[in-house]
Amino acid sequence: MKQEINGDVEGGIAGRDIVRQEHSVDVRIKVGGDWISVKTVNVSPHKPVPEGNPNRRECPQCAEVTWLATEECIACGYNLFAHDAKARRKRIDRRKMKFIVGLGAVAVVGGLIGSFVPDGLRLWVYGFSLLSAVMAMELTKD
Ligand SMILES: [Zn+2]
Repeated sequence: MKQEINGDVEGGIAGRDIVRQEHSVDVRIKVGGDWISVKTVNVSPHKPVPEGNPNRRECPQCAEVTWLATEECIACGYNLFAHDAKARRKRIDRRKMKFIVGLGAVAVVGGLIGSFVPDGLRLWVYGFSLLSAVMAMELTKD
């Protein structure tokens, strides 16, 4: 394999391609017209994840077994970090939505029962109800 690389050598050789079979890469560095280094680098495909290893996970894209903490699936290259971040955002949004609905319910119930509670408590009930409504509206802004 012969490839001329200017600049980022590591990025040029390793790239982000999935290595599927064993091969070697000759690294030659030319400085001012002279070759200063020749080195053969053996590139091995990812080793399969051992059975029973606690750091196994199933790729959501190709359903093959891959490592838990690698950015890309060793079988298909799917970006697992991006997938997990998206799932995490979805989970947080769902939790936030439940909280907003709860606050809204407290506001509505407070508004409904306010006139039936004793005079000494009425101000507290309406205040708490209003506070819940304001918090719910603030949370829906972003
Ligand atoms: Zn995959």
